[in-house]
Amino acid sequence: ATPTAVMVATGKGAENGLLLRRGAALESLARTDTVVLDKTGTLTLGRPQVTDQIGATGSDDDVLTLMAAVESHSEHPLADAVVAAARERGLAWPTATGFEAVSGYGVHARVDDRYVHIGAAHYMEWLGVDTTAVQTEVEALMQAAKTPVYAAVDGQLLGVVAIADPPRPESAAVIAALRAQGLRVAMVTGDQAATAHALADRLGIDEVMAGVLPDAKAREVQRLQGEGRRVAFVGDGINDAPALARADVGIAIGTGTDVAIEAGDAVLMRADLNGLLNAVALARRTHRTMK
Ligand code: ADP
Ligand code: MG
Repeated sequence: ATPTAVMVATGKGAENGLLLRRGAALESLARTDTVVLDKTGTLTLGRPQVTDQIGATGSDDDVLTLMAAVESHSEHPLADAVVAAARERGLAWPTATGFEAVSGYGVHARVDDRYVHIGAAHYMEWLGVDTTAVQTEVEALMQAAKTPVYAAVDGQLLGVVAIADPPRPESAAVIAALRAQGLRVAMVTGDQAATAHALADRLGIDEVMAGVLPDAKAREVQRLQGEGRRVAFVGDGINDAPALARADVGIAIGTGTDVAIEAGDAVLMRADLNGLLNAVALARRTHRTMK
């Protein structure tokens, strides 16, 4: 490897909005055969919004009020969407106590004298909450790539809100281009399988790892490496940091969390996945120069 070639590439990278944090990043990227991307905030805009509501036993406003009481204590992007929706409707919510987050599942707290649990289908299942009443409607929402968030009160389903987080406008084209260059593309997410597959279908991704618990993304990367694949991981969240570090090359979205940026070998300074395409092209050119 000639240092001059690397320095020239680093300059070019900077021009294209790519910050190289480790010298070997470009060479690793040139050798990559598999690109694994996080879903929320990486392939999507990461600005989730409540779009639909299904009431099981509560009115829409009652459901949102109780959910906001609990979610106002959470920092999860889904929680922000719930609170914003409640605010938009001019709802006021009571104070929740004893708030706890169950990573990868959901959250719970006490509101007045009621126990409120909010989260994914697998959280409701684990709690023993019957969700069959809303099953058909929820499935239709997931087919539209929306994430259902369930709310239960004292063990009974209260209602469901659906949250949409649209893909970045460039996601589909970037994935097509990566594949055209012979790269395998996969998506990893903590979100439920049906929602993840619906989005992946739209984006032209056929390899999906869904329902992945926060600390398990790195294990998925390791599993692929065990199959002899050289993995680039692209992510933005705290959850992504171990996978970014574990991958042969970790690429963080520059507008993501500091923890992710620290863990990355390279950083896309603009939240635009075209930067990833440019990085691959630059890496391949530089690597050819260095041989
Ligand atoms: P991701 O952010 O990639 O979906 P997480 O591990 O943070 O992954 O969460 C996994 C799932 O757990 C979410 O998709 C959601 O269904 C549920 N969940 C986690 N935290 C919350 C919360 N505060 N409110 C509602 N649902 C939550
Ligand atoms: Mg993310």
